[in-house]
Formats: sequence, structure tokens, C-alpha cells
Amino acid sequence: MPVSPRPSIMTIDPYVGGESKIPGVNRIIKLSSNEGAFGPPPAAIEAITRAGREAHRYPDGAATALREAIGGRFGLDPARIVTGNGSDELISLLCLAYGGEGTEIIMSAYGFMMYDLSGRAGGARVLKVAEKPAPGGVGTVADIDGMIAAAGPRTRIVFLTNPNNPTGTLLPNSELARLRAGLRDDILLVLDSAYAEYVTEPDYDPGNGLVDAAGNTIMLRTFSKVFGLGGMRIGWGYAPAGIIDVMNRVRGPFNVAAASQAAALGALSEPGWVEKSVAHNTEWRGRLSAALSAAGAEVWPSHANFIFADFGSAEAARTIDARLKARGLIVRGMAGYGLPQALRFTVGNAEECQMVIDALGTPHG
Ligand SMILES: *Cc1c(COP(=O)(O)O)cnc(C)c1O
Repeated sequence: MPVSPRPSIMTIDPYVGGESKIPGVNRIIKLSSNEGAFGPPPAAIEAITRAGREAHRYPDGAATALREAIGGRFGLDPARIVTGNGSDELISLLCLAYGGEGTEIIMSAYGFMMYDLSGRAGGARVLKVAEKPAPGGVGTVADIDGMIAAAGPRTRIVFLTNPNNPTGTLLPNSELARLRAGLRDDILLVLDSAYAEYVTEPDYDPGNGLVDAAGNTIMLRTFSKVFGLGGMRIGWGYAPAGIIDVMNRVRGPFNVAAASQAAALGALSEPGWVEKSVAHNTEWRGRLSAALSAAGAEVWPSHANFIFADFGSAEAARTIDARLKARGLIVRGMAGYGLPQALRFTVGNAEECQMVIDALGTPHG
């Protein structure tokens, strides 16, 4: 007799990442996965090379040096940091530890897809709450009141991405605080701040305040975006001691590879990396947004390293996508979110952004 998994597993469609190939096109420019514009920091590349010579050794399972460096950089207690094989792993472990059969998980309709996949893999029912128009009138944001209203007796976890991927929109701290205050104390709030470094709003808090205020909130961060290390798989969480203790029980003892820990340490030591990346991002995000608007798209206000552009119809989005693809430019289709009229553009380096701008400006090219 064939083996079969728990029934909830077969309701999951495997994650489809950003495309990376176009048949017949040699030079591919991948602007579909929000990887940092400048590649890996040089100090990270050196660290990976050095780590290769020690690859027969198991990693430090506690990632002590890395947690201390993260704590030093972001002003956080290293004892309340947990590292993961990407923040994706931490999302999955949270769903295993706090979700499970018979429970419910809440996310916003356009929140990050992994919450849905991991939540269901853990056996939970995942509720997606419709978004509401953003205060400025363009785009949408998570509906905090709707998420609070959706929480019921079986709810165990609420996920919120801020700034959100794929929309790029940002909620103010007051809305996050209102969400936390409106949820029962025994519901875990997961604030996924994967794009925190790119935010230039002066009073933005990626989650430190809410984590410190009570025992039921965790902030997730990653080295995959501004630090340019998506291929090394390093994410981290900052949480109250009780949640860190749970994570340390459910994670694999060596869940972050030695070369990955070394790479992250290297990235943190690279002088001026984040400043340079953010300055570039802010400048080119503005230029790309202007070019997209000129091409007829509604551009949602972005606080991250990508731009969500609504072309009005699926056909219009397909036309733009085809024009980009003909030049080797791969952006992310949004049909998986029920938004086939939109495309998401990662802010690449200057040359890549200019290629996108040129392609947008030549309707028949
Ligand atoms: C990219 C991304 C992640 C995953 O990051 P990894 O650390 O590479 O697993 C998590 N959340 C959001 C919102 C992201 O965009």
C-alpha cells in the first residue's frame, strides 16, 4: 500500500519562486525575487571562501558569534535572538510549534505566501483577510480591524509583513500596536520585517517595541534582501525568552550552515553597505516609479526594494511583461495573488533599472 501524508499536506501547491530563465535569451536580468541590487558584500564572499576550508566541521549550533553581531548591530539582546535557515525556516517552525491541526492562522490577503504554505503544512487552517485601500488612496494595506475581527477561539498565530511583500506598502507603528492590542494575549503575532533596512520613514519600528512590550510577539528579519545573501539562507528572529526557548527546541541543532554564519558576519562587517544600498534604492525606486507611471501604471507607494505596478488589466500586464522578457528582464507576475493586472519590479543596479526604464518607454520595442 502506498504511504500517504497528513491530509492537509496535499492541499498545498509547491511554492513557485521568481522565474530565472527565458527560452532563447542569453543574458538574463532577474528582477523577480527582491535580492539586493549589489550582489553579496565583498566581506561576505571572502568569509564564504575561508569557511570552505573548514567545511568538514559542524557549525556552531548556537550561532553565538552571529547572534552577538546581530545584537550589536541592531541594539538587541543576543540571548533573545534565534537564527534560521532563512526566515522561511523560522516561519515554518513557528507554524509547527504554535499552529497545528485544529488551529487557525490569520494573514492579510496580500501577505507573504509562505505563511499560507507553512501554516497548512503544519495542519492549520489559514484565513486570508481582505485588504483595504491605503490611506493615501493608492494601493492597499492590511485591514487591521478585519484581522482582529477574524480572530476566533482557534486562532493561534497572526502574520503581518511590514513593509508588505508584494505590495510594498507600509503600516504605521500605531496600526501594529492596535493589532497587538486587539488580539488575545495567547495569540502569537509574527511581524515579518524582511525589508526593514530599506524603510526611510523616521519613526518606523520593525517590531522591537512590540516584542519588548509583552511575551507574545516575534519579529523576523533576513540576510536575503539588503545584505545580498539569499543563496546562503540566513534569517533571524527577535522574541521574548519563552518563544526563543520554543524555537531552540524545534529547530535542527545545526540549522544554519557554518559558511552561512560566516557570510552573515562578513556582511555585517562591510562598511557602509546598508547606507549605500538604501541610498541607491531610494534613488532608483523613484526613477523606476516615474517611468512606470509614465507607461500608464498605477504605482503603489513602496517602502521596500521593489515596486508594485498595476497596469489596469491582465492583458496590459502581459504586454509589458512580454516586452521586458524580450530584453531578458524578468519581473514577478502577481497572478498567484489574484492580481494578474499587476507586476512586481525589484530595484536592480543602475544599469538594470535603466534597461527597464528604456523598455517601458518603447511601446513597440
Ligand atoms: C524574502 C522574504 C522572506 C524570506 O526570507 P529568507 O530569509 O530568504 O527565507 C520572508 N518574508 C518576506 C516578506 C520576504 O519577502
